[in-house]
Amino acid sequence: MDKIVSLAKRRGFVFQSSEIYGGLNGCWDFGPLGVELLNNIKQAWWQAMTYRDDVEGLDASILMHPKVWEASGHVENFTDPMVDCKQCKARYRVDLLFESLPKKSKKHIEDKIKATLNSEVAEVNEITINNYFSDNIDHFTADITCPTCGNTGTFTNARKFNLMFKTYIGAIESEDSIAYLRPETAQGIFVNYGNVKESTRQKLPFGIAQIGKAFRNEINTKNFLFRVREFEQMEMQYFVKPGSDDELYNEWKERRIQWWVDLGIKRENLNFAPHPADKLAHYAKAAVDIEFKFPFGFGEIEGIHNRSDFDLSQHTKFSGKKLDYYDEQNKERFIPYVIETSAGATRGFMAFLCNAFDEDEAPTSEGKSEVRTVLHFHPKLAPIKCAVFPLVNKDGLQEISQNITADLQNTFKVFYDDSGAVGRRYRRQDECGTPFCVTVDYDTLKDNTVTIRERDSMQQERIHKDKIKMYVMEKMMG
Ligand code: ATP
Repeated sequence: MDKIVSLAKRRGFVFQSSEIYGGLNGCWDFGPLGVELLNNIKQAWWQAMTYRDDVEGLDASILMHPKVWEASGHVENFTDPMVDCKQCKARYRVDLLFESLPKKSKKHIEDKIKATLNSEVAEVNEITINNYFSDNIDHFTADITCPTCGNTGTFTNARKFNLMFKTYIGAIESEDSIAYLRPETAQGIFVNYGNVKESTRQKLPFGIAQIGKAFRNEINTKNFLFRVREFEQMEMQYFVKPGSDDELYNEWKERRIQWWVDLGIKRENLNFAPHPADKLAHYAKAAVDIEFKFPFGFGEIEGIHNRSDFDLSQHTKFSGKKLDYYDEQNKERFIPYVIETSAGATRGFMAFLCNAFDEDEAPTSEGKSEVRTVLHFHPKLAPIKCAVFPLVNKDGLQEISQNITADLQNTFKVFYDDSGAVGRRYRRQDECGTPFCVTVDYDTLKDNTVTIRERDSMQQERIHKDKIKMYVMEKMMG
C-alpha cells in the first residue's frame, strides 16, 4: 500500500486535500493523471450502462428536500454506534473496535452480549453488536482496552452517530432549513422515476443511471481512498415487474462483475460476498457485494441489491404522489421492484490502481536489467494513451514528433517528451501507465515509419506514422 500511495502522489494521481494546511481527514484531490483515470473509469461505466435501449441517464442535484431522507430511512437508520477513548481521544466505530480486539477479549465480550441479550443469538455479528451497543450504551465499555493508548475502561458509552452531513438552506439556521449532503445518489433516481418514465416513455424493465458525489461523515476513514468522506458513486436503478426481480438480479450481478473483468481485473481477484439474510439492510430482499482483493484484503467495490418496492412505496407514502406503473398489456397497476447496482468510482479508482501496480524487470542500455515500476492499466483507462519521443533533439526529429503529438491530441491524451535517454523516458511512462510510446528516429526521415513500444511486453514494432492513431484506438477498444 505504501508504495502505491507514494507513487500516486509522485506521479500526480492523488494528493491529500488541503495538504499545505496539514490535510483534511477523509478527503483527497485527484491530480492531473488521477483526474484522467477517474474520468476514464466513469466514461467506461457510463458507456456500458447507458449506451443501451433500456437505461436512461440522469444528473440529480446533491441537495434534496429533507423529506427524501426521512422517506428513505436515512434520518432514522443511517447511523453507526461509536465510542471515544476519554484518555487519548481516539474515536471508534463499535463494530470495527470489536473486530480489532484480541481473540480472548472478543470471546469474553461475545459471551456477555449473548448472556445479556438472553435470547437465542446464534452468532454475534455486526448487527447484534451494533444493536447491543445501541441499546445498552452503558455496558461493557469498561472491559475494552483502547488499541491506541492501551488503557482499559477509558471508553465513553456508545452513542448513535448519523453519517449524513447536515447543512442549512438560506440565511436562517433553524430546524426548518435543515438539508443534507446526499449520502448516496440513489434517492435522486427514485424521486425522478416518474419524470423519466413519462419523458422517455420507457416500459418495464428499464433503468436510470447516474454518476455523482456522495458524502458520508465516516467515523473512521482508512486505507487511502477506500473509506473516505467525499466520494463518487456510479449507480443504476433497474425498475422491474415484481416476480421478474430474482432473474434480473442474477443477470445484473453477472453483467457487473464482467465489467470489472473486461477492464483488466483478474476474476480470481474478485469475489461475490452475499449478505446473509440476517444482515440484510432494512430495504433489501437480497444483496451481494463485489469485492476486490486489495493489498489489505478483500473489500467491497460494488453492491448489487434487490431493493423490492421499498423506495417507491416510501416516496409514495411521504410525498403523496403515485409512483406506480400501469402495465397496459395485462391491465394491472403495481409498484415496480428495483434492482440496484451501486459501484464506487473512488473505490473503483483505488481498485484499478492497486490492480495495475507492479514491479518487474526491464533491460537497461548497458545490457543489464533493473527493477521497473509499472502500472498495467487497460488502454481504455490509462490516463495518457501514447507518449511521443524524438530520438535526438536535432535534424528535424523534434518537429516531426510535435506534429505527430498535435495530430494524436485531437483524439486522445498524449504526452510529448524530449528530455533524457529514451530508456529513462520509457520508465517515466511505465510509472504513469502509458500503454504506448512512439519514437521518431532517423529512419522516420527516410520512410515515415516510427517505433511503437508496448508497455507490458516492452516489444517494439515499426509502423507508418499515419497508422499510430488507428493502432492505439484499436487497442483501446480491446
Ligand atoms: P461499506 O460497507 O464499505 O461502508 P456500504 O455497504 O455502506 O460500504 P453502499 O452504501 O452499498 O456501501 O455504497 C455503494 C458503493 O459506494 C460501495 O460499494 C463503495 O464502492 C462506495 N462507498 C461507500 N462508502 C464509501 C466511502 N466511505 N468511501 C468510498 N467509497 C464508498
